[in-house]
Amino acid sequence: MLAFGAKPERGSATCEDDVSDIIASDSKPCPVCGETIKAAALKCRFCNTDLAAYESARQAEVEHEVWSGHPATVYSAWQWILVIVTIGIAYLVLWIKSQSITFRITTQRVQVERGLFSTIKDNLELFTIEHFDVHKPLGMRLAGHCLLHLRSADDTSPSLKLYGIPDLEVLADQMRENSLRERTRRRVTTFIET
Ligand SMILES: [Zn+2]
Repeated sequence: MLAFGAKPERGSATCEDDVSDIIASDSKPCPVCGETIKAAALKCRFCNTDLAAYESARQAEVEHEVWSGHPATVYSAWQWILVIVTIGIAYLVLWIKSQSITFRITTQRVQVERGLFSTIKDNLELFTIEHFDVHKPLGMRLAGHCLLHLRSADDTSPSLKLYGIPDLEVLADQMRENSLRERTRRRVTTFIET
């Protein structure tokens, strides 16, 4: 991925190599060209790779979990009313419903598992998502919640609805950024609908 050519000459380093073996703890191989460089080096003196930038680009490829869990049992004011009217019975029903759904959001994808025994799984890659729509129906707004509707440009991919997640609006912004970054990393170009 990076230029391997144009290595600078190292001169007669045959006997110096033995010395560098002894002080090996001070050195490390360059992750790009494999030449031995100082452990504290910020830039490889052989291939000129900016090691900090290389490491951060590599880190971006690693998937990290952003949020994972069940939606809140009660995420709407109407549900609270239902719970009060049924003297708590509705809470049990809502709790089972909430336990049967698991959201998993990572830096690269969104997964939704449905069913108490995790049978159906929907998976959406962040870079395919075109629309991050935040909805605030009255009942949810009163309960301090909102709904995030994720839609991709591809009609065959599922559209996912996330709700009952604390600070979902902040999370939505984070997902938007991750989506753009993933898109750049994968070099996906799209036509933006107006
Ligand atoms: Zn190098």
